[in-house]
Amino acid sequence: MERTAKATPQVAREHNERLVVATVYVHGRISRADLARVTGLTRTTVSDVVERLVASGLVAEAGRGPSTGGKAPILLEMPARARLLIGVDLGDQVFTAAVVDLRGRIVRRASAPSEGLSGEEAGRLALAVVDSALAHGDAPILGVGVGAPGLIDTGTGTVIRSVTRDWRDLPLGQRIAEHTGLPVHVANDCQAAVFAEHVFGSAPAANLIAVKVGMGIGAGLILGGELFTGDGFGAGEIGHTIVHPDGEACRCGRRGCLETVASLGAILRGIEARTGQPASLDQALDAFAAGDPDAREVVLGAGRQLGYALASLVGALHVRRLVIAGTLAAFGPDWLDAISAAMAERTLEALAADVTVELGRVDDVVVLGAAALMMTRELGLRLQPLDATMSPVRGPRGAAR
Ligand SMILES: [Zn+2]
Repeated sequence: MERTAKATPQVAREHNERLVVATVYVHGRISRADLARVTGLTRTTVSDVVERLVASGLVAEAGRGPSTGGKAPILLEMPARARLLIGVDLGDQVFTAAVVDLRGRIVRRASAPSEGLSGEEAGRLALAVVDSALAHGDAPILGVGVGAPGLIDTGTGTVIRSVTRDWRDLPLGQRIAEHTGLPVHVANDCQAAVFAEHVFGSAPAANLIAVKVGMGIGAGLILGGELFTGDGFGAGEIGHTIVHPDGEACRCGRRGCLETVASLGAILRGIEARTGQPASLDQALDAFAAGDPDAREVVLGAGRQLGYALASLVGALHVRRLVIAGTLAAFGPDWLDAISAAMAERTLEALAADVTVELGRVDDVVVLGAAALMMTRELGLRLQPLDATMSPVRGPRGAAR
C-alpha cells in the first residue's frame, strides 16, 4: 500500500479497507472503537469499511470484549478460513500445491512427482498440481503463491533462469494467472523458505539466512526483519558461484560451480563413481544411515564444500543464525556438523563462534512461505514472527495517520 498525496475516493476507499483488514489481522480481535484509535480513521469511516468487509465475509463479529464502564464492545476478527490461499512448492522430487488458511495452516494438498522433468513438461506439471489443489472448489481463494527454483522477477512472475528446470524467461506467473483467473505471486524458493522460517519458525530474529540444498543450492536472506532480494532479485543465488575453476561441468554451462560439489546431484554422482552403481536419494540416505563408508565420505564431503561456501556469507553479513533446509536436510545432524565445522574452519574464529548453523524447523517451508508472501501482497500486510497471540503480522505497510 503506497501513500497517496491526493487520493481519489476509490483509492482512499481501497486504502482504508486494506488498513482495517491489516489491523484486524494483527490484533486478532478488536472493537470498532479501537480500530478507529489504532488506524486514525474516523469512527464513521471505520463503521462503513467494516460493514463492507463483513458483507464480503473477510471480517466477522466475534462476541463482546470486556466492558470499560459502558456497554461491552462487539469484537471483530478475520476468520482463518475467510479466504484461502494456494501455496506451491516446485520442489526437486515433487511439485506440491496446498490449500492454506489465513493463519498458515494447510487444509489440503496435492502433489505430483517432478524428478528429472524440465522445460515445458515441468511447466505443465506446475499448472496441473495447482489445478488439483483447486479441484475441490473451496472458495474464495485469495490467490496463488509459488516458490520456484532459480532467478525470479517477482514483479512479473517470470522465471528469468532456472538451471534446475532448464527454464529461461518462462512467464510462469502469467500462465498460472491466465489458467486459474487468480492473482499469482512467484518467488524464489529459497526466499519463500527463509520467509516461512522467519514468520513461522520458533526462534524469531531480525536477521536470518536459510540455505536450501537439493538439486540446486540457494540462500534466502532476512535482513533487519525484511526479506532481502538485492538490487535485482538474485540475492542468495550462490549455487552457480564457481568454487573449483577446473572442476566438473555444471548444468549451467560452466565448470566447478558450488552445485557440482555440494548438491544432491553431486552426492549421487559421487556414490556412483565409488560403487559403480547409480544411486537414488533413498538409497543414498539408507546407505548413509547404515554407516556405509562410501556414502559417509561422499555426503560429509559435500557438506564440507557447502560449509566453505557459507563462510563467505557469514563473513559478508555476520548473521548469527543459519538454517539449512531442502532435500539434503534429510541427511541430518552428521551432515549438518560437517557444514558447520567447515564454515567455522574458514571464518574468522571470533565470528564463527557467534554463528549457529541448524536444520530448519518448519515443515512445508516453501509452500507456507510462498502462501505468506502472496497474502502479504494481497492483504497489504507485513508479516513478522508469530507472537504469543498467534498474530504473525506487525501492521499495515505505510499506515497513514
Ligand atoms: Zn553452474
